[in-house]
Amino acid sequence: MNLKITVLAGDGIGPEVTREAINVLKAVAKRHHHKLELDYALIGGIAIDRAGKPLPAETVAACKAADAVLLGAVGGPKWSDPRSKVRPEQGLLGIRKALGLFANLRPVKVFDALVDASTLKPEVVRGVDVLIVRELTGGAYFGKPQGQSGRPPAREAVDTTQYTEKEIARLMRIAFELARGRRRKLTSVDKANVLATSRLWRAVAHEVAAEYPDVQYEDVLVDACAMHLIRAPKNYDVIATENLFGDILSDEAAMLAGSMGMLPSASLGEKLNRHGYRRGLYEPIHGSAPDIAGQGIANPLATILSVAMMLRWSFGLEEEAARIESAVERALNDGLRCKDIASPGATVLGTKEMGAAVIERL
Ligand code: NAD
Repeated sequence: MNLKITVLAGDGIGPEVTREAINVLKAVAKRHHHKLELDYALIGGIAIDRAGKPLPAETVAACKAADAVLLGAVGGPKWSDPRSKVRPEQGLLGIRKALGLFANLRPVKVFDALVDASTLKPEVVRGVDVLIVRELTGGAYFGKPQGQSGRPPAREAVDTTQYTEKEIARLMRIAFELARGRRRKLTSVDKANVLATSRLWRAVAHEVAAEYPDVQYEDVLVDACAMHLIRAPKNYDVIATENLFGDILSDEAAMLAGSMGMLPSASLGEKLNRHGYRRGLYEPIHGSAPDIAGQGIANPLATILSVAMMLRWSFGLEEEAARIESAVERALNDGLRCKDIASPGATVLGTKEMGAAVIERL
């Protein structure tokens, strides 16, 4: 297979962790006889410095020409003046919009070797394997009207939550497709006892569920889901929900795994690449970590696991994806850790050494 990938390394630790992830990708591609075509483009603060804007037109063109995109992270103190008209984060929002990415996928898998890294009890988190599918382009973050009016003591503000049937149905279809490749259980999260958008969400979700009789389906209210996620997270397989609920629940779920340096993510759109899979943007959930940038100590595993997700969902290469995931698991089982996940007595590796350790175990 010919894998055409655009790499947006970005800022801070972005270039350090993407370098290791690409090395892993190269090693897997070689082993399975795939041809890699890599294209590097600018995004975020480095794009502001070099091209005057956080998302140059060439970057958008390079991403549109690719089968999949790998992103490091954007942002940092150098570009964080709130009065500034150009900000690195605009690059991120811009590329998601340009590629029509409406579904954000965050798998949270707790590796056995890391159960103690979580703040929750080991018996609660051991074996957790949840996938949160969050709607990314609708709901309260984008609904109009939005804004504040009036003067003290009579100020008012309004946000609007709006969803169309089409937006709900396409998100649910992705979630059902993903559930089919996993344990075939889907939980749709809403607040249908109070919100009109949630009642539409639930009605459309049920209609889509009828197309997937092989997947076990349930509705859960968002407040109950927040509770169950820390009480009994093993009960969940795929959780599908709207933008605001997903934003909150995915961060809550991330903490089950203990460290941000371990968690990958993907954003998918409707457009298929030339191989017939969804074009997607893959990135670690962590940011550019300016406090440790340039020190060679960032944990590259979230980005390496993002590459595994890319192989699975944008190229259909399940065996290659699983090979990367089990190499990561083996490195952890062998006691290897980066600083962020190190427990007393562990062997602490730098970014490059961890990348090499994964490659050795592929
Ligand atoms: P952060 O995720 O960058 O860092 C939070 C903490 O986690 C820091 O102490 C950092 O050192 C640590 N950390 C993060 N990733 C790590 C890794 N791979 N290995 C080891 N330790 C790691 O979040 P922040 O500090 O709130 O934000 C820093 C910058 O990143 C800001 O400019 C923010 O806007 C940006 N950001 C970007 C994205 C993105 O590009 N998708 C996401 C979140 C934050």
